[in-house]
Amino acid sequence: MTVGLHYRPGEASRVAYWDSDCYNDRVVSELNVTNRESFSMPEDEKWMWLALEEAKKAAALGEVPIGAVAVLDGEVIGSGYNRKESDLDPTAHAEIIALREAAVKVQNWRLIGVTLYCTLEPCPMCAGAMIQGRLSRLVYGGKDTRFGADGSIVNVMREPSFNHQVEITSGILEEESAALLQDFFRDLRIKRAKQS
Ligand SMILES: [Zn+2]
Repeated sequence: MTVGLHYRPGEASRVAYWDSDCYNDRVVSELNVTNRESFSMPEDEKWMWLALEEAKKAAALGEVPIGAVAVLDGEVIGSGYNRKESDLDPTAHAEIIALREAAVKVQNWRLIGVTLYCTLEPCPMCAGAMIQGRLSRLVYGGKDTRFGADGSIVNVMREPSFNHQVEITSGILEEESAALLQDFFRDLRIKRAKQS
């Protein structure tokens, strides 16, 4: 797929794309694109932008902005965003919701060939679900220093004793993921300060 990208030197991750089925001018303008060049966006970044869009849906509901999309053969087969507060459900993490939707779509709990894109390093529960689901590949953005199960706190994802190993790529659109979280918590602090 040919897409447009904008890069500023030294700020490589501030990118946007268009001429794509799944993105539009609104997103491009949100990212304040001033100079358009055309070249191919790396596949992982393309899907991670969609995971970030999911994360924004969580923020709009007052939920911590974390999003995920499951992709198989170039098609989104599941998506989710954090809904813990809305659903009063401690398991309503973006990844779990996306994995469940993907399994229903392929009519198989074994998610062979599926890549899950998450804006943040998964927690131990989600890491466990990925291994249980025989997920083929995980791509995530930033590290989670509170709950991260790919080495930040524990290393569930790369535990060699498990009978299934997930291929992992991290750091994709990490700055965008972190910026969403920072903005969310800053707004929350402002809101709470006004209330007190
Ligand atoms: Zn989780």
